[in-house]
Amino acid sequence: MTTSTQIRMAAYPLGMPQDSDFDTVTVDLPALADGQVLLRTIYLSLDPYMRGRMSTAKSYAAGLQLGDVVLGGTVCEVLESRSDDFTAGDIVLAYAGWQTHAVADAKHLRRLDPAQAPVSTALGVLGMPGFTAYAGLLELGRPEQGETVVVAAAAGPLGSAVGQIARAKGARAVGIAGGPDKCRILLETYGFDAAVDHRSPSFVDDLAAATPDGIDVYFENVGGAVTAAVLKRLNLYARMPVCGLVAGYNDTEQPQGPDQLPGFMRRVLTLSLTVRGFIQSEFVPTHYENFQRDMAGWVRDGQVRYLEDVVDGLEQAPEAFRGLLSGRNVGKLLVRVGTDPTLA
Ligand code: NDP
Repeated sequence: MTTSTQIRMAAYPLGMPQDSDFDTVTVDLPALADGQVLLRTIYLSLDPYMRGRMSTAKSYAAGLQLGDVVLGGTVCEVLESRSDDFTAGDIVLAYAGWQTHAVADAKHLRRLDPAQAPVSTALGVLGMPGFTAYAGLLELGRPEQGETVVVAAAAGPLGSAVGQIARAKGARAVGIAGGPDKCRILLETYGFDAAVDHRSPSFVDDLAAATPDGIDVYFENVGGAVTAAVLKRLNLYARMPVCGLVAGYNDTEQPQGPDQLPGFMRRVLTLSLTVRGFIQSEFVPTHYENFQRDMAGWVRDGQVRYLEDVVDGLEQAPEAFRGLLSGRNVGKLLVRVGTDPTLA
């Protein structure tokens, strides 16, 4: 009998998730049925979308029920298999969530090749965040040579990929991030043309200085004060793929102050803006194959670089998740739940 230590939803968070919103339990896992495998979690991905699932509010996907294991993408090792497609020792991309071990249907797994890339990248630059950046920017942002692309949360897995893909397409990339250290990373590690600190009191002026020709594509990751400043710099026919609004994920009430909607709609009209929300899964059938080919190539030849922020131990997940929502992570946030045999 294998046991799994699991972190489950104990209560729906109000504002920033607290330790009391989670329960840790250890359970016996059931015996494998035909077509199933036993998994040991190596890496757990922490992503902002999880905050939306810790809620009963209506959204694009169903929320967690109280008592559910918190969901999440994982890289796992197959310990036992009753599937013809996998054998013990295989490393797979799974959706095991916040737990050390899981029983999963083999049909939901994808085998990873450690010789091709570090297996952790299947949760970051070569996985869902990288794909979201690729599909959202190329299909909806459609940057052209010489245009200015702006992205916030730019030091994270999505924003850093957006900036680097924009540059690969000949555009000028301007990243917005929290604090001078992250801004330095944007310039030195990711090669952004300019970096702007949204926490600086001179943010609005700094953004204007960094976008002398205005903004043609704003890849929306955050919302809030950053968006308000960006809107004033948008050019005629600017495109705005709306990917995330992480600045507001913990909000418990409507923002105070004057209603921004009339001003926003006036800009949409007078600048002929294209504002288009999307969830990455929409583009999987049409763009995933090209993404795998292009992104793997860009990573291999160094055109796209990535950073990972790895914390050790499943028990660190709630605190690390709070850090993600407040900007403490630098790069793709992962929890190393168990040892990575591919690094041995
Ligand atoms: P990150 O690892 O970049 O983490 C989120 C970052 O958001 C923080 O590090 C912080 O960076 C920034 N942030 C938090 N609060 C604020 C704020 N008030 N103002 C400005 N920035 C803030 O996350 P990801 O790269 O994984 O995700 C980026 C966005 O993409 C999120 O909104 C996420 O929900 C969205 N997303 C959407 C998908 C889709 O299908 N539509 C799929 C995947 C992700 P900093 O320190 O720089 O402020």
